[in-house]
Amino acid sequence: MCKKTMIANSGDIQITQCNNCKMINVWKPGLLLSFSFSQFYEFTKVAKQLNFDKFFEYSPDGNRVVILSTPFPDICLKFTRAELHDFVHAIDEAMYMHKVYELVHN
Ligand SMILES: [Zn+2]
Repeated sequence: MCKKTMIANSGDIQITQCNNCKMINVWKPGLLLSFSFSQFYEFTKVAKQLNFDKFFEYSPDGNRVVILSTPFPDICLKFTRAELHDFVHAIDEAMYMHKVYELVHN
């Protein structure tokens, strides 16, 4: 993998961006997803609109979770309320830091 810069860190979630190819990686326990920036941007729009109280369901372990589909066929993410909060915080931070780096490096 290429060299990466951490652009967000919230709870169990880290988001990094590759210094060369600009791919964005989302690191969640047991999972690593790679997005192009435009894929990531579309994904964040959906994630931020996800209303936990409206859309929660019960996972097999009995916890309330919301399910978020990804641009990757058959791969969905699930979040508890606290995890969703951390995730939305992380993507806000990532979008902000992405903008900052664009300004610095262009
Ligand atoms: Zn790369």
